[in-house]
Amino acid sequence: MTMTTTPDQTPAAEQTFESFGLDSRILRALTEQGYTTPTPIQAQAIPVVLLGKDVMGAAQTGTGKTAGFALPIIQRLLPMSNASASPARHPVRALMLTPTRELADQVYDNVARYAKHTDLRSTVVFGGVDMNPQTDALRRGVEILVATPGRLLDHVQQKSVNLSQVQMLVLDEADRMLDMGFLPDLQRIINLLPAQRQTLLFSATFSPEIKRLASSYLKQPVTIEVARSNSTNENVRQMAYRVEDGHKQAAVVHLLKQRATETDSRQCIVFVNSKIGCSRLARHLEREGINAAAIHGDKTQTERMQTLEGFKTGTIDALVATDVAARGLDIPAMPCVINFDLPYSAEDYVHRIGRTGRAGASGDALSIYVPGGDDRLLADIEKLIKRSIPRGELNGFDPTGERARSEESDRRRQRGDVRRARDNGGEAAAEAEAAPGRRRRTESGGRQAFRPSDDPFFSRPYEPSNHHANAQPADEQLAAALSRGRPAPKRPVAALLGGAPRKS
Ligand code: AMP
Repeated sequence: MTMTTTPDQTPAAEQTFESFGLDSRILRALTEQGYTTPTPIQAQAIPVVLLGKDVMGAAQTGTGKTAGFALPIIQRLLPMSNASASPARHPVRALMLTPTRELADQVYDNVARYAKHTDLRSTVVFGGVDMNPQTDALRRGVEILVATPGRLLDHVQQKSVNLSQVQMLVLDEADRMLDMGFLPDLQRIINLLPAQRQTLLFSATFSPEIKRLASSYLKQPVTIEVARSNSTNENVRQMAYRVEDGHKQAAVVHLLKQRATETDSRQCIVFVNSKIGCSRLARHLEREGINAAAIHGDKTQTERMQTLEGFKTGTIDALVATDVAARGLDIPAMPCVINFDLPYSAEDYVHRIGRTGRAGASGDALSIYVPGGDDRLLADIEKLIKRSIPRGELNGFDPTGERARSEESDRRRQRGDVRRARDNGGEAAAEAEAAPGRRRRTESGGRQAFRPSDDPFFSRPYEPSNHHANAQPADEQLAAALSRGRPAPKRPVAALLGGAPRKS
């Protein structure tokens, strides 16, 4: 039976976590987290997952979907929890697959918090870091394993993990996993699991490929939908500020300083379209006395983790990010998002402002636009979200004063940035080569190329270098696999299992 619930069927306000019959140890953890009321996806998903049904959930990060699947999974595993030291008593029973390292880390972090008062063990494995500590954790035994597909296959090949007792599988952000070419890895992993299991698939969109994936691996799933795609959250106050080209940095400084004096929270994510622009803006904000850090694809995993930690603990106020670097990041109660650059794709605007107004909290989504150059981008966004974004005034904004202070030093630095990027064969230069037809003017007056979201760090959680180069589009892989009635890896099994050289 397939049942669809829609946003109109959101739960009654009085619904509580207790009403789901969750164990007191889980409820205690939720109280410690400060959760009082289930979010709509939780209200819909938890009872269904508790019944053991398969679920196809249309929900984006920020809706509370992680607890929506993690809480009932923990509840269902509790009868098997035990304090034995023997690894054999702690087989992997729930597997949660995510497309990126950051998302894997966040899902694991949530699971560990929700299960902290139980004897259930959990861990996370993802690429880009030493395998040995992961191997040790797996060998000690865990009931709940969060993983990115490539690194999980490495552990399978190393025989540090056995998936034959998995009873529950979660495919989180399944659309992104397909976009990123993980279908063969997913198929390989799913083939290692018992056929008798519960499968939960979460995806921001239900594209035909996702529907085909679901029809191959889910049994009579209950469809749960909490937000229409491309809808924007009612809790988010949107505003667009018209700023002359050349004054954008000053405008962001003004907005951030104004917020710091007028609101309780200084924290904000500032979106920039290019990596080089991202670093440049972060440096500019620092010079203006704002605690800022950049997060983008040229940063190492350690740098990203440190930056994220600094942002979460409040030592960083302005996180300057590119779209892909920010995607999937779970930053609770983000009060403000600023679009320093309007995104080239209107869908990215929806993703960006989805960083704020989460789990019922209110938030501000502020955009800066340059008349003329940005008019079409703004119109595209308004068309997609089916509403006009109110235009605001930057009260007390004096771009000339701010400019006089920093303009010359900026110009010097920008020249240095561009030179360095060119000398190093850096990404900005590479982008300019890759997409010569899609360039647009930047604030500095230079030419900057647009390349859609393909930050390599996030696009390849852990994959051999030749895998994606040869990958078919997800749709074709799926169609080919389904037409044969079996998985269709695009590389030999040995290579799938780590026989091919891995990218360091
Ligand atoms: P997610 O969509 O799972 O990434 O969750 C987004 C954020 O909402 C996370 O920071 C969660 O800790 C938080 N959250 C999830 N459920 C609730 C809830 N019922 N009440 C308050 N915050 C929640």
